[in-house]
Amino acid sequence: QTKSMDKIVSLCKRRGFLFQSSEIYGGVQGFWDYGPLGVDLKRNLKEAWWQDMICGHNELKQPAGAPSTYEMVGLDCTIIMHPQVWKNSGHYDLFHDHMVDCRESKKRYRFDQVRGREVTYQDRTIFVSTLAEAEQEEDDIRRRGMKFFKLRNKDADKITVGGESITIDKLDNTENVLGPDAKTLGTLTEPREFNLMFKTTLGALGGEDDVTFLRPETAQGIFVNFKNVLDSSRVKVPFGIGQVGKSFRNEITPRNFTFRSREFEQMEIEFFCHPDQSQQWYRYWRDRRMNWYLSLGMGSESLIMREHDPEELAHYSVGTADIEYAFPFLPPGEFGELEGIAHRGDFDLRSHMEGKLDPATNPMTVELNEHGKPKYRGSGKDLTYRDEATNEKFIPHVIEPSAGADRGVLAFLCEAYTEDQQPDEKGNLQTRTVMKLHPRLAPVKAAVFPLVKKDGMPEIAQDLYGELKKHFNVFYDDKGAVGRRYRRQDEAGTPYCITIDGDTVSDQTVTIRDRDSLEQIRVKLDDVVDTLTKKIDG
Ligand code: ATP
Repeated sequence: QTKSMDKIVSLCKRRGFLFQSSEIYGGVQGFWDYGPLGVDLKRNLKEAWWQDMICGHNELKQPAGAPSTYEMVGLDCTIIMHPQVWKNSGHYDLFHDHMVDCRESKKRYRFDQVRGREVTYQDRTIFVSTLAEAEQEEDDIRRRGMKFFKLRNKDADKITVGGESITIDKLDNTENVLGPDAKTLGTLTEPREFNLMFKTTLGALGGEDDVTFLRPETAQGIFVNFKNVLDSSRVKVPFGIGQVGKSFRNEITPRNFTFRSREFEQMEIEFFCHPDQSQQWYRYWRDRRMNWYLSLGMGSESLIMREHDPEELAHYSVGTADIEYAFPFLPPGEFGELEGIAHRGDFDLRSHMEGKLDPATNPMTVELNEHGKPKYRGSGKDLTYRDEATNEKFIPHVIEPSAGADRGVLAFLCEAYTEDQQPDEKGNLQTRTVMKLHPRLAPVKAAVFPLVKKDGMPEIAQDLYGELKKHFNVFYDDKGAVGRRYRRQDEAGTPYCITIDGDTVSDQTVTIRDRDSLEQIRVKLDDVVDTLTKKIDG
């Protein structure tokens, strides 16, 4: 397999896409810095999203597949918000992960990391799954000659396998199954709940009342500004609010390069619509978001749309689909989430209005305080919408396409990574590493090469470079053999290389070489900007 994660990670470091944060001090797990090429790649991804979803959206034209025309506006909210926001959003009580500690190694496993997986621990292999999952797979387990051992909570404290003793405490309230040649995984503590929000304190005193959190998603800033946007911009339902910004989650096991980071960026839309039309809008956004990735060069075989099963849905969700990518760190046939598109009903606006909800109208239970009143109170502000044409008052339903910018960058980097065989100057086939990034995403759009540093070529090349710089990110390189200069740009994902040679001096034409097809065309110097603009913008 040419697309290995090791190769991609090493290229990212070598060429300056991504570095480990605070690397000279040994790094901090779950934090990553974008280098000179990475910062432009990430900006281009975010700008493509902003352009295609928000500011480039034409609210006068009904898009294909949409139930009607709609408006889109943007927002940029703070990372620290009123602590009450996180209580009413549910994050304070429910945004937990399960942590399982291994008592012997003191290593931490997330429950979902251990469950259903082959885990290697001190050179031993073990599968852990729930009984229901194992029963489904039972035929397969037997066919593959594997053994499995049923553990029930009541007797799950000690078993002996292959002469070795293994102690497993309750993993959770489900029954657990081990297979195939299950051996020691150490002793797992009971899963503990762990809130993923980063705590911080406001001001100098730092009392309990001053505790607040770094936002774990950008969405809540949009909900709490719903009324402000309505009142200030005269948008009408259906409309969407988009935001790009940092989010923080104290992930228990950050891993797989930037895939699961503790600080990351999201690109989120909250789309407000009439409840009767919400299913149609849900389908529209699901398909629109999938097509967006394809339009930026994602291969259709590497991307899937996965509708959640009803039991997988969040407590408030009427429907959720994930767009998932075949990341190379996953086993073949497995996909990792890039973006979730959720139908959230009126959960968010209603909770910010009324606080924690009545179980009769919402599965979230009301926690009462000692006075028999809901534990958290909403803002008490009216977040309903009144349709001016019909005079109908309702709480809009929300469709939320929520994408991760860093996961997007990682997926596009993985998708772009290609090795092919190309002849060198002597005609011998050599392995070429090329990042086939879509021209809109490529950090550098074009490189300008004077063939040699004499005969008037550098002067023409420098002028052209100056002219192109006004329009795109361009790189100038006059060092070494031109073949090597091409290779460097191939690795950076630069889609076009422009060479100024002897003919340029006499006939004012240059060659433009295409990174993917390796085709070279001759273009008049004066037409280079136009030609490139057309190629990059499609
Ligand atoms: P996961 O199940 O992988 O933890 P999630 O379902 O919790 O993700 P959401 O809360 O739906 O994720 O967040 C929306 C998007 O934000 C995700 O699709 C992903 O692209 C991005 N995202 C979430 N958590 C992280 C993270 N720790 N690191 C990088 N990106 C993230």
